[in-house]
Amino acid sequence: MTMLARPGGSPVGALAATSAASPTADATAVERKGWPEQVALFLFITLPFLALLVAVPVAWGGWLGWHDVVIAVLFYVVAGHGITVGFHRYFTHGSFKARRWLRVTLALAGSVAIEGPVIRWVADHRKHHAFSDRQGDPHSPWRYGETVPALVKGLWWAHAGWLFDRELTPRDKYAPDLMADRDLVRVERAFPAIVLFSTLAPAVIGGLWSMSWQGALTAFFWASLLRIGLLHHVTWSINSICHAIGERPFRSRDRSANVWWLAVLSMGESWHNLHHADPTCARHGVDRGQLDSSARLIWVFERLGWASNVRWPRSERLATKRVAA
Ligand SMILES: [Zn+2]
Ligand SMILES: [Zn+2]
Repeated sequence: MTMLARPGGSPVGALAATSAASPTADATAVERKGWPEQVALFLFITLPFLALLVAVPVAWGGWLGWHDVVIAVLFYVVAGHGITVGFHRYFTHGSFKARRWLRVTLALAGSVAIEGPVIRWVADHRKHHAFSDRQGDPHSPWRYGETVPALVKGLWWAHAGWLFDRELTPRDKYAPDLMADRDLVRVERAFPAIVLFSTLAPAVIGGLWSMSWQGALTAFFWASLLRIGLLHHVTWSINSICHAIGERPFRSRDRSANVWWLAVLSMGESWHNLHHADPTCARHGVDRGQLDSSARLIWVFERLGWASNVRWPRSERLATKRVAA
């Protein structure tokens, strides 16, 4: 069983083997959790965001202005799609082929998210697919068991605790194709400089745009600190929330689930059950009405001739993976 994408991002066979549905180990038989747990989980995740929403009108005018919003959204969208389209669908799973300049641009854009350098990110994520929700998965919320206290502990682990794990995923084992790419090794080495850029550029832009120190400071708060933190939590939510609650319309051998209310912020990544059922598919929100801005962006790249060999969903293939009604 091969679990590695081929050099050059060829999608054929990349991680496809891990999607093979196993009739004995699929997630369809998993019982649904009761509503108190669902509510508790939902509050745990949404309260920080609600607090943030309350802070916005309080700060509006003096400590938050249009400049800050524009800069924050711009950095969020660029770094976010750098992760979803670049690090995830392209580098990890080879969902499409990209021109060399686009490949480098995606690696740079994803690095702006400050979720670690590209090759390390890909190695961790390939290991996640190889062992999803079993021993060896770097971030399964089921690590400590199935009781409520174990799940609470596991959710924290899957969300952020695993980042503090000192054992690193071996890059030469999980991402030899990327290690052999000199462009990518250079981007990997430039990571500290990209971190500096991601942290300081919003302040510089905000300061120059408003021609004030206050403009630099507020842009730093909203478009650096808050933007980086929000994108981190959204990405980690895919590892925690999307392996704990949600719908499971497709057969996968783990507990990945689709979570609709994270679709916009996660740029389509929260259709995570489909993703584990068909990891190389370029589009995760395959059903009607499932927003997936990352898939839309790949479509634009394809139209412009920058991306090719895109692995779009095929209805016959999806039908074989769908859980019988
Ligand atoms: Zn997953
Ligand atoms: Zn994946």
